[in-house]
Amino acid sequence: MKNFSIAIHGGAGTLVKGLMTSELESRYKEALAEALEAGYAVLEKGGTALDAVEIAVQHLEDTPLFNAGKGSVFSNQGTHEMDAAIMDGSTLKAGAVSLITGIKNPISLARDVMEKSDHVFLAGEGAMEFAKMNGYKVLPPEYFYDEVRYQQWQGIKDSTTFQLDHSVKKDGKFGTVGAVACDAFGNLAAATSTGGMTNKKWGRVGDSPMIGAGTYANNTTCAVSCTGSGEYFIRGVVAYDVSCLMEYKGMSLVEAASEVIQKRVLRIGGDGGLIAVDAKGTIALPFNTEGMYRAYKTSQGEHGLAIYKD
Ligand code: ASP
Repeated sequence: MKNFSIAIHGGAGTLVKGLMTSELESRYKEALAEALEAGYAVLEKGGTALDAVEIAVQHLEDTPLFNAGKGSVFSNQGTHEMDAAIMDGSTLKAGAVSLITGIKNPISLARDVMEKSDHVFLAGEGAMEFAKMNGYKVLPPEYFYDEVRYQQWQGIKDSTTFQLDHSVKKDGKFGTVGAVACDAFGNLAAATSTGGMTNKKWGRVGDSPMIGAGTYANNTTCAVSCTGSGEYFIRGVVAYDVSCLMEYKGMSLVEAASEVIQKRVLRIGGDGGLIAVDAKGTIALPFNTEGMYRAYKTSQGEHGLAIYKD
C-alpha cells in the first residue's frame, strides 16, 4: 500500500488574527477538521481519491461558514449562483457545473456530469435540467440563506461593485472550498465548489469550475484546487500551470506550487492560494494572502490545520 493523503481549503483572503472572535475561529476549525476527517476516513478504508474529495467538499458545502452550497454569497439579483468542478487524475475525466441554483451539493452534480453525461461542463438552465433528470431536489432559497452573506450583499447591491468574499476584512466570513487527495493506489483527484463573488452579475463565472484554472488533477503530476481572485486565476491557468511546471520543467510539487502562487499569479495581480498533492502523497498549501483556511492529513502521520500565516 502506498502513502495516501488529503488536503482541504475553505478560502484564502485577508484573514487577520484578532478580527474574528475565538468562538467563530473554533467553529471554523471544527468544520475544517470534520471535513478533513470525513475525506481521510475514505482513504483509510482503501477508498478512492475521487470519493474522498467529494465527501470532504460536501461537508464544507453543508456548513454555512463557507461560501459554497449552504451559505453561498448573494448575486446581484439576490440569488445564489453556484459553481463546482471535480477531476479524476487517473483518467483525466472531469465534470463541472456553473450558475446553478437550489442544489444542496453542487460538487455531486459536477461528479454526475462527469459520470453520467457525455460532457464536461454544464451551465445555468441546462445544468438544472440535467440535475432534475438525475433526481436532484431543488431547495428553496431559504436553505442557502445566511445573514452575514445577506448583509455583505446589502452593503454593495446598489453599486457596480462586486466583491470577492474573502476580501472583506470586517466579518470574517470567507470561503470557496476545495479538496485534493492521493489514495493508496497513487490516484489523484481534485474538487472545488463556490458561490463566487458577492453582487456578481451578467452570468459571471470564476476559476473554480474551470478545468485547468481553479481545478485540475493528473496522476503523473498533481491535483490542485485554487481559491482567490478568480479572474486572475483564469488568466494564469493556475492549476494547470502547477502541473505544467512539474511535467515540463521537472519541478517538485512544492517548488511548482510556490512558483505559481508567489510569483506567476502575483505578477499579473492575482491574490489567493491553492492546495495541491502529488502521487507520493506530498502536500503543498501556498498562498499569497494573509491567510487561508486549510488542513491536511497524511498516512505518514503528518497533519495540520491553520487559518493565518504562521
Ligand atoms: N475563486 C473564486 C471565484 O473567483 C472565489 C474564491 O476563491 O473565494 O469565484
